[in-house]
Amino acid sequence: MGPRVAGRNFLFVPGPTNVPDRVQRAMMVAMEDHRSSRFPELSTSVLHDLQRVFKTSSGQVFIFPSSGTGAWEAALTNTLSPGDKLLAAHIGQFSHLWIDMAQRLGYEVEVVEVEWGEGVPLERYEQLLRADKRHQIKGVLVCHNETATGVTSDIAGVRRALEAAHHPALLFVDAVSSLASIDFRMEEWGVDLAVSGSQKGLMLPAGLGILAVSQKALAALAGATSRRCYFDLADMIKANASGYFPYTPALPMLYGLRESLNIIFEEGLEAIFFRHHYLAEGVRAAVTSGWRLKLCAREPKWYSDTVSAILVPEGINAAHVIDVAFRRYNLALGAGLARVAGKLFRIGHLGDLNELMLMGAIAGAEMAMQDVGIKVAAGSGVAAASEYWRSHDPVPRKKVSREEQFYEAHSTGSIQG
Ligand code: PLP
Repeated sequence: MGPRVAGRNFLFVPGPTNVPDRVQRAMMVAMEDHRSSRFPELSTSVLHDLQRVFKTSSGQVFIFPSSGTGAWEAALTNTLSPGDKLLAAHIGQFSHLWIDMAQRLGYEVEVVEVEWGEGVPLERYEQLLRADKRHQIKGVLVCHNETATGVTSDIAGVRRALEAAHHPALLFVDAVSSLASIDFRMEEWGVDLAVSGSQKGLMLPAGLGILAVSQKALAALAGATSRRCYFDLADMIKANASGYFPYTPALPMLYGLRESLNIIFEEGLEAIFFRHHYLAEGVRAAVTSGWRLKLCAREPKWYSDTVSAILVPEGINAAHVIDVAFRRYNLALGAGLARVAGKLFRIGHLGDLNELMLMGAIAGAEMAMQDVGIKVAAGSGVAAASEYWRSHDPVPRKKVSREEQFYEAHSTGSIQG
């Protein structure tokens, strides 16, 4: 078959996500001097507004021209010393990669093995933290949303475990596929280092590593002896103080970020979280009631509102579904990674999207599954999602007072007389 050229490619991997036209246009700029007297207006405004997205007023946000992986490294090397001990749960491929990085950087990681499909085991964390009487564990790593399995963990619960154990370890959270799409409360949850990237909920291309750091973690900088250079926060802090960067920033990305933040605040963070949950519920209805397939996430409490990992029946290679979807229907689905390769495919439902865009992904996945011999009834996923979306509100219901109701009714003329 020749290349598909007509129509759009349907991009439903869980990042990079669709970049809104407004953001694409904002990035089409001529290059300019990043040391000009005007540049700090842009940099300080995006750094300030990112604090609102992380929900922190006391934490400081840093932007690196990297991807999320760079921000992982920045978080570790700026606050730890070689040989420091960390506690982490291996719940999927991204939590594995962060653990692997920590080990390669010379930290000792106590790894809690968990079945993929489950979230961070809070009780086990609490036991291990209580047992660490001499406070040798310097940091706890948690992947808020494990993109490989479609599992969201309870960060407030991890903070409670630290508190119950009266443990001072820093709380490191990977918010790469949750920020700006699933509620994330850096200050309230006492998160010390929150890592993210540009190509997911922030609706930008890949290219920015974003890190939010609490005052407690900033205080750890001076004593942290890990070697660092490009990612040294001390250089960033010095340059950012006057609105500049220690090296050439990714300028068009910063203009794009300015526009994506505008879009985020126009919709409102809470409305965005609501929309992601509502869209995710429609996808889950398609998977479970429509196709009668199972999600990798084992319990509803772990269901991710940004990505669904869908297990295919035994004897079918999920990579085949993904390939047919791509080649025949111009639909990009996410692959199963590492130990779940071939066992599942993923539908990303985050960022700039709505019901009908997702209908394209559901319909395309359904056709591709039929093509490779999976017995799903034609139209069953689409029907289940449509039933869910048609019977639920797409936006939070506004709480209106009696006076407002009266006023609204009068101003729209619906009350007679
Ligand atoms: N953490 C999670 C949860 C991710 O989903 C990803 C990428 O998909 C990463 C980290 C790595 O981020 P990046 O690919 O931007 O380096």
